[in-house]
Amino acid sequence: MSGRSSDARAYFVASRRLGAFRLSPDHPFNPERVTRVYRMCEERGLLAGSRVAVVEIEEAESGVLERFHTPEYLASLRRADGGAEVDVEMLHHGLGTAENPVFKGVYDFAALSATASLAAARLMAGGAAAAFNPCGGFHHAHRDRASGFCYANDIAITIDELKRSGLRVAYVDVDAHHGDAVQEAYYADPSVLTISVHETGKTLFPWGGFERETGRDAGMGYNINVPLEPGCDDDVFLLLFREIVMDALGRFRPDVVVGQFGTDTFATDPLTHLRLSNNGYIEAIETLHAAHPRILALGGGGYNMHDVERGWTLLWAELAGVPLDDGYGGSLGGVFLGDSSLPGSNLRDMHVYTTGPEKDRLSAGADELIRRYRKEIRPLLH
Ligand SMILES: [Zn+2]
Repeated sequence: MSGRSSDARAYFVASRRLGAFRLSPDHPFNPERVTRVYRMCEERGLLAGSRVAVVEIEEAESGVLERFHTPEYLASLRRADGGAEVDVEMLHHGLGTAENPVFKGVYDFAALSATASLAAARLMAGGAAAAFNPCGGFHHAHRDRASGFCYANDIAITIDELKRSGLRVAYVDVDAHHGDAVQEAYYADPSVLTISVHETGKTLFPWGGFERETGRDAGMGYNINVPLEPGCDDDVFLLLFREIVMDALGRFRPDVVVGQFGTDTFATDPLTHLRLSNNGYIEAIETLHAAHPRILALGGGGYNMHDVERGWTLLWAELAGVPLDDGYGGSLGGVFLGDSSLPGSNLRDMHVYTTGPEKDRLSAGADELIRRYRKEIRPLLH
């Protein structure tokens, strides 16, 4: 299998049944986002036409979670699925906490979202240009343990499937949280380049992902972390994205980029401390897409529902190559134009700029990360 795409279409892999699940009544991760993103894309005409295809996943594939997770963990997850009381074994596997509550259908939820990501991987292996599963990107799920709202690591299942079909894979994670469980899965594996750009572990869960974590043994250099300081804005994020992420990808030359495109980096996100807007977010994705045309996009975090909808609609429009006629105009200064839930209204945020000593501090930190990348990691990448 060559890295070339033989099917120019972009596939929206939907499993709208997922939108009905609730982790717990007040849980910040609300699967309804899936339904809402689908609806916004549909309303804007982004799911029609010859360039796109919608694939609906109705049922979980048997054995999908066994591809990555341990039998012991899955036995606990199955018990939780029926609505059983939390037991010691479940707690041992991270289940039954406030973060990862057990709820009726939890196994089905995890397996169905992983099946959608696996379907996206098969489409890419079959030559598709792009695929997007908005209910994926669960980067904190470990082989033996649920963590950080994540029950099943659909990302590792996806990457393994792509590898098996002979594709060279790079993983790019721009969620505000470090992609710890994906890092762990490929830490000693030089065949997969993993890059995570996230709020520093000094101030945010999962409290790791520092620049010194660069891989192990043969995988040394093939794991890159770009920790952002609280307050980081579009400018500083884009500088780091270009100078580190794009540079490393250019050297690694993947056939396919798997992206975890969480939107919890935005200034309005209630759980994190970064200050991006969706302008910086989508500019990074445009830059990535221009250089690496084959992208398998997965969702991720994002706890302001309206931001998630708009961010992922912009993401899908970019992948599908369907221009949105409301593209933010510099002439308007990026002013937020009214209620973006209305079809035809602007999806872009206002720009958020950091200035003064705060900006100087952020820029100096970014320069140091770039210097370190060039000195310590770049020479290791082939
Ligand atoms: Zn996150």
